[in-house]
Amino acid sequence: MRKAVVLFDLDETLIHERASTAASFAAVAAAHGLDGSTLQAAVRAAAVPLWGAGPAAAYCGAIGISWWEGMSGPFGPSPVAELAALHAWIPRFRAEAWAAALDRLRVRADPADLAAAFAADRLRRHVPYPDAVATLERLRAAGHRLGLVTNGAPDYQNLKLDGSGLRPHFEAVVVSGEAGVGKPDPRIFALALERLRCEPGAAAMVGDNPARDVAGARAAGIMAVLVERGEPGGGADAVVRELAEIPGLVA
Ligand SMILES: [Mg+2]
Repeated sequence: MRKAVVLFDLDETLIHERASTAASFAAVAAAHGLDGSTLQAAVRAAAVPLWGAGPAAAYCGAIGISWWEGMSGPFGPSPVAELAALHAWIPRFRAEAWAAALDRLRVRADPADLAAAFAADRLRRHVPYPDAVATLERLRAAGHRLGLVTNGAPDYQNLKLDGSGLRPHFEAVVVSGEAGVGKPDPRIFALALERLRCEPGAAAMVGDNPARDVAGARAAGIMAVLVERGEPGGGADAVVRELAEIPGLVA
C-alpha cells in the first residue's frame, strides 16, 4: 500500500552521528598530539559513569540524550525541570569528564580548553548521509509528505536539523524533549501523525534503531523500515542499506 506520509529518524539515519563525534575527538586530539580514538575512549570512560549518575539520568534515557551529546550540545534554559537541571549541571559534567580523561592520558592541558574546543567543533558538523537529500527530494516530488520523529534535547535536535539543511523537507518535526515522551513510546509517533493528519496505516517510519524506531513504529501501527547502520534488523517490515531504496518501498 502506498504510504502518504513517511516519517524519519534523524541521528544516524539522515545525518552522521558516530562519524561526526569521532571526527571532533580526532580534531581536538590532533591539536594536542594525541590519537582521536584514544582520546575518545578516555573521555568516554570518564563521562559514562558521570552521565549515569547525573541529575537527569532517567530522563535522558527515556528522552534519548546521550553522554556525547552532553559533551557538546546547547542545553539552554528550559521550563522543563529535567532540561533545566541539565543546563545547570552540564558545565561541571564536561569539566570533570575532560579533567579525568586528561589525567588518565597524562596530558598536561587545561580541560576547559579541550571541552570548549570539542563542543565548538562538534556543533559545526551536521553532515547528511550522501543519499539523504536526494531521497527526501524524490519522496516529496512523488507526493509523499514527510515528518521527523527524533529523540533528544530540543535545542540540540533543532540545531542539527538546521545545520544539516534538512529542515525544509519536513512538514512536521517532533522532538522527544518537546513532546515529553520519546521513541519507542507509540505516543510520539501518534503525535507526529496527528500533526500530519494521517492514519497509521498510511504511514511508514524509517530509522536505524531496532528498539526505538522499529519496535516503536510497529507498536503505533506504522510500517517500520530499518536502515542498517550496524544494528541487525529484527522485526522490521523492510530492511534497507541505502536511503535511496526508500522511495520504491513506499510508492
Ligand atoms: Mg537514530
